[in-house]
Amino acid sequence: MTATSPRPDFTPDSDPLDVIRWTLETHPDVLMPSAFNLNGVVLLDLAVKAGYRGEVVFVDTGYHFPETLATRDRLAARYPELTFVTLHDGASPEDGQTDPALYASDPDACCAVRKVTPLQAYLRSKAPSALLNARSRDQASTRADIPFIEDGARVKVNPLAHWTREMLETYAREQDLPVNPLYWDGFLSVGCWTCTRAVRPGEDARAGRWAGKGKTECGLWAGENRL
Ligand code: SF4
Repeated sequence: MTATSPRPDFTPDSDPLDVIRWTLETHPDVLMPSAFNLNGVVLLDLAVKAGYRGEVVFVDTGYHFPETLATRDRLAARYPELTFVTLHDGASPEDGQTDPALYASDPDACCAVRKVTPLQAYLRSKAPSALLNARSRDQASTRADIPFIEDGARVKVNPLAHWTREMLETYAREQDLPVNPLYWDGFLSVGCWTCTRAVRPGEDARAGRWAGKGKTECGLWAGENRL
């Protein structure tokens, strides 16, 4: 973004497509990390409609559900105009990155090694000025204040900040998007199989992540090493 680029006057009702188009104009080097959750799949489709033709970067922690890896592959087939990048492709619990059971004893350390560090290193090499991110306010109370645009060393743009889960589901159904099938089984936010359970009625969409471990974020989007 140049010093003279006007900051758009977005409101909660602004169309995510307009937010993405502004991002592409002001940050043509923008990158999109993704874990291919419902939000991520919707954002990916909207980004393509807005003209995004860059990379979609996914980190293989070695603990992903097969359904998540299959969702990535279905998306790659559906959007050949994008470049799908998988860091540590083929990682496994026994690959030596961490003790295989570190997720149980110290999930923060496990996420730091298996997820945050590889993505941070990749982003240092690519040096994008902005990231497209799929978080939305109603995913969790800790995300209730997410703005469309977060300033920082890298601008983080959250075009879906004001979309509800119902809006995301409606869009996904209307567009026949390849949503991770686990979502429809109650896994409203899908992470590693070791650290994810289905959400119970009335819980936040992310309540199934690290349940009972006092942890709510992997460290990519919150904390001192956030992207
Ligand atoms: S979600 Fe669990 S298994 Fe995956 S990187 Fe984090 S702690 Fe490790």
